[in-house]
Amino acid sequence: MRMIVIGGVAAGSKAAARARRVNPQIDIVLYQDEAEVSYSACGQPYYLSGVVSCRDSLIVRHPANFAKEGINVQVHHRVTKIDAAARTLTVHDITNDRVFEDRFDSLVIATGARSLRPSIPGIGYEGVVTLRSLTELDGFKETLQRLRTKHAVVVGSGYIGLELLESLSRLGLTVTLLGRNPQVFSRLDPDMSQTVHEYLVDQNVNVMAGDGIAELKGKNERVTEVETSSGITLQADLVVLALGAQPNAELAGQAGIALGNTGAIAVDERMQTNIPGIYAAGDCAESRHRLTEQAVWQPLGDIANLHGRVAGENAAGGDARFPGVFGTAIFKTFELNVGMTGLTETAARAAGFDVISSVMFARDKARYYPGSQELKVKLVANANDGRLLGAQVVGTGAADKSVDIVATALLGGLSCFDLENADLAYAPPFSPVLSPIIVAAGVLCKQVKQS
Ligand code: FAD
Repeated sequence: MRMIVIGGVAAGSKAAARARRVNPQIDIVLYQDEAEVSYSACGQPYYLSGVVSCRDSLIVRHPANFAKEGINVQVHHRVTKIDAAARTLTVHDITNDRVFEDRFDSLVIATGARSLRPSIPGIGYEGVVTLRSLTELDGFKETLQRLRTKHAVVVGSGYIGLELLESLSRLGLTVTLLGRNPQVFSRLDPDMSQTVHEYLVDQNVNVMAGDGIAELKGKNERVTEVETSSGITLQADLVVLALGAQPNAELAGQAGIALGNTGAIAVDERMQTNIPGIYAAGDCAESRHRLTEQAVWQPLGDIANLHGRVAGENAAGGDARFPGVFGTAIFKTFELNVGMTGLTETAARAAGFDVISSVMFARDKARYYPGSQELKVKLVANANDGRLLGAQVVGTGAADKSVDIVATALLGGLSCFDLENADLAYAPPFSPVLSPIIVAAGVLCKQVKQS
């Protein structure tokens, strides 16, 4: 049996490794178009800022590590065509500029996603960068060093844009955040994203929410200014396009593999596409949202690993299932932590839930304990029975803990009544005597009783 994996960062390398564990007998080949495989794209902002000093530490495993397990990793090899009926691939060996065919019995497509690049005047100037792959990271780093940039405009207020504001600010650049959406980080409810907005302003970020990028102006092929949609001119020798990403699903689409409404590859709970024996995993594939039952696109590293594990096991002859996602995510910008799980109030209403919510401020440790920090916590629940639907947590305190408590509660289908009396760990260095989630759940319980 011959299994092929296309793409080798998070989902692809996990799929290959899992397949080998499940089935020591099969041939496993992984084609990757970049120079490296199995790296942490998530760590890139910290390497740029110098918090992580060594680029190599972002690389989890090299092709030689895979070879020891009998996985044949071919870097600089791009798959250009899948023939689903003939069970063959066309592969371009980029180094030797050679094209050949390979055949598979099972296939895992893990082609990931790419940064959006708007077609605006000046997009090709030096100093205009995106960040997605290690190849782009190297270009970004080289641009910073060679152009000795001083004034950065980050376009896009998603989590990568906000992480990069911190990275660039740490390097001493002045930073402007330009986002078409009036809400900074619009995955949150407006009352929560307002806190992020205000925090960024306090960090001397020039926040221009509700304004887009119209044109880039330059001199000697280098970017010098950003002209915004509202006609404002911003000085910029570095423009970071953090406008989001789109799934690399064209290769699959051209092979007759069905794409979902999100534009990513549609899969079942075995991560199998509409064609038996062909699986998809990671940023190129959809997931099922466990609260709305809708197909969603959640391009995140942990999900890519979970997807890859299931796809790899099944492609090797096993029978694993991926139950879906709750939309859990977290990031930090400067010292502000922003986390969420489940549905926001806005999303829950849009999905047809009858919703109640509570917002409260709390400390992450006992107030008197050194280092105790503030958190703003929003819980969302079903108005009828208090079943939890989601949480958003913003603050300089340990947001991850509260988010993960609620993510686990969602997994168990728990209500605010379950959480109100939850037996969670307490000592002053770790938590207030009642966890912020217990207190927020208590507020929701009162609302359910009154309704
Ligand atoms: P990708 O990482 O996109 O890898 C796909 C690979 O396949 C690429 O190398 C691509 O070049 C290759 N490929 C594509 N087409 C072909 C082809 N035809 N032939 C051969 N090779 C091909 N997620 C989190 O959960 N937490 C975080 O904190 C976080 N931070 C992030 C920060 C940054 C700056 C970025 C860019 C992403 C971050 N992510 C984070 C997202 C996470 O990195 C991605 O979800 C994850 O990398 C997806 O893995 P993947 O293997 O599905 O796809």
